[in-house]
Amino acid sequence: MVFILRFFLIVSLILLFLFPVLDTFAVNEEEITYILPYGYPFYEPSLSAKKVYSIKLRFGMSISAVKIFQSNNFIWFMCHKIGDDERFFLPDVFVYYRHDKSRVRDFIVSGLMDRDESAGTGTERYNSYNSSFSRISDISTAPDVISIGIDFPVDKWHPVPLFYEPEDLISIPARYKAPSSVNRDLKLRKEALYWFIEMIDDAENEGIEIKIISAYRSSAYQAILYRRAIKNHGLRQTWVAKPGYSEHQLGTTCDLGTAESGYKLTVDFEHTRAFRWLMENSYRYGIYLSYPKNSAWLKGYNYEPWHFRYKGKSRFNIMSNESETFFTR
Ligand SMILES: [Zn+2]
Repeated sequence: MVFILRFFLIVSLILLFLFPVLDTFAVNEEEITYILPYGYPFYEPSLSAKKVYSIKLRFGMSISAVKIFQSNNFIWFMCHKIGDDERFFLPDVFVYYRHDKSRVRDFIVSGLMDRDESAGTGTERYNSYNSSFSRISDISTAPDVISIGIDFPVDKWHPVPLFYEPEDLISIPARYKAPSSVNRDLKLRKEALYWFIEMIDDAENEGIEIKIISAYRSSAYQAILYRRAIKNHGLRQTWVAKPGYSEHQLGTTCDLGTAESGYKLTVDFEHTRAFRWLMENSYRYGIYLSYPKNSAWLKGYNYEPWHFRYKGKSRFNIMSNESETFFTR
């Protein structure tokens, strides 16, 4: 019996892999949101299709999606503006889609299709999409506050509500910013800023220099970075997160740098003294590396040794208290 079930599972996986017929996934007039700063949609579901210059879309615009297609290894939505009948097409990289359990099959299939990304084979990715499905929470309405310390994963498959903005953002003092960022108003949530500063001060006392290169980003600003990345590296770029899919929007996350690696966001940062110090100490401040080596299969983002998220100091306290209880028992 188990054998037969397993056989059917394998056969259906192979069939899905060979025949990912996507236009069988009908959508019933659902709302999606356009997430690039501005742009034109396409006449057909194809990257070489003519653009519809009579329709200009802006960041945050709500659109109705009526059907889904597959072309050029992209999911395409057949759409129309609300209250307007003219049909047009948008690839999935142009839109924010509310993760909704009833629609997750589309994401599974899209995972199978992204074969040219560096995140493993189709089957591995199928499994990772499946495991992320079980963790998807319903966040269709934007919360006012995402509490620090709760398990709120943000990665390629777990978005922040698109227009979420924390209320307690505070500007980072100039001396903590990298030279390239000193004229930018970088912000973090109050509690996160406090612990990043504590950590950077303590590192400095041990002769380690750490500076903040980037911190809070609104989804609108992320849209500008996202568009630039698409322009420079194409629609399949994996460097910049989709607006709404970046931990920076939480206001608890920093990109860190040091003079030793020229304050650059490169993998070379891992060879610096600053990085080694962070690996040994950051957790004491409730601060963790978000995208470690070999986690792309799970989180969808490449290794980013510079990207750290404050997850809550109490988390560390709870952990150390638990281990204390454990050892005294
Ligand atoms: Zn980052």
